[in-house]
Amino acid sequence: MTGPHGSLNWRNAAHWGGGRHLPCIHCRRGAFCRDDHGRPCHKTCAEAVSASRAEQAAHDLTEGAA
Ligand SMILES: [Zn+2]
Repeated sequence: MTGPHGSLNWRNAAHWGGGRHLPCIHCRRGAFCRDDHGRPCHKTCAEAVSASRAEQAAHDLTEGAA
């Protein structure tokens, strides 16, 4: 589920785990948010991961063109 600018849509109620505090899949600290797969994670952690993935994809494209 992506927003108009390719960012995650954190307004979607599916991202809120009903007030349950579960360990974030990225940093293991308690998080109320859920990612698109329903896994507990922080918004900041998810954004950092998606940013690094985009960076890696761009890097791979550059490397592949050589
Ligand atoms: Zn986290």
